[in-house]
Order: sequence, then structure tokens, then C-alpha cells
Amino acid sequence: MQLVDQWNRRIRKLRVSLTDQCNLRCRYCMPLHPEFLDKSSYLTPQQYKEIIGELLDYGIEEVRITGGEPLVRQDFDEVIQELAKLKIPSLSLTTNGLLRSVPTSSGKHYPHHVGNCVQRWRQCIQ
Ligand code: SF4
Repeated sequence: MQLVDQWNRRIRKLRVSLTDQCNLRCRYCMPLHPEFLDKSSYLTPQQYKEIIGELLDYGIEEVRITGGEPLVRQDFDEVIQELAKLKIPSLSLTTNGLLRSVPTSSGKHYPHHVGNCVQRWRQCIQ
């Protein structure tokens, strides 16, 4: 079975927000006084794996992890490790790149643990 939208287009991509929190307050993104969700309402790494695993059976081929800033989740590594078990065709990450970064030969900074599991990443700020 495949997911389709109201115009009968196949749904292949899934955006997954791990948190609404961020370590920055870009004006175009965050309200001046944000009210964040209670962390107790967050899905667990295992719940993400179960839900996304089900959706793969419905034709999802690309999963993009986002936030807020997903790297502020203390269990971020665990979430990624759980998702890596699913063998998602394309797993990518949107991040501001400020946390847990290391210098590379190109001078850019990449989250150091992204390379093993996440195939692509995109910065939400320049
Ligand atoms: S770093 Fe990204 S998620 Fe955070 S406030 Fe700026 S645009 Fe939004």
C-alpha cells in the first residue's frame, strides 16, 4: 500500500521533528518568547523507530530529521542509532551545525556522529 495526497501524488518523503527547541533564536523562525513542548511528551527513540518503520511499508523512501535543532535532544544519538536499524533509503538531517561539531579539511563543521548513519545534512542557517 502507498500513501498518496489529495492530488494522487505518491508521498515518498517524511519530515520528522525531534524537538521544537533550539540553541538559537533566529528571528524568521522562533517567536520572541517561545513556549516549548513539555519534554515528557517527546516520542522515545524506540517509538520513532516503530512509527517510521511502519511508514516505510507505505512507500516512504526519504526521512529528514529536523527540529527546532535536533542536536539539542540529549538522546539524539540513540534516535539515530534506532533509525539506522531500519535501513531507510535516504536518512538526512537539518541542523544549524553548532553542536558537537568538528573541523573538516574544507573548513566546514559537521556534527561528528552524523557521518556513520545519516547520509546527507543541510544547515538551516548560513
Ligand atoms: S537555528 Fe534553525 S531551527 Fe534554530 S532558530 Fe535558527 S532557523 Fe530556527
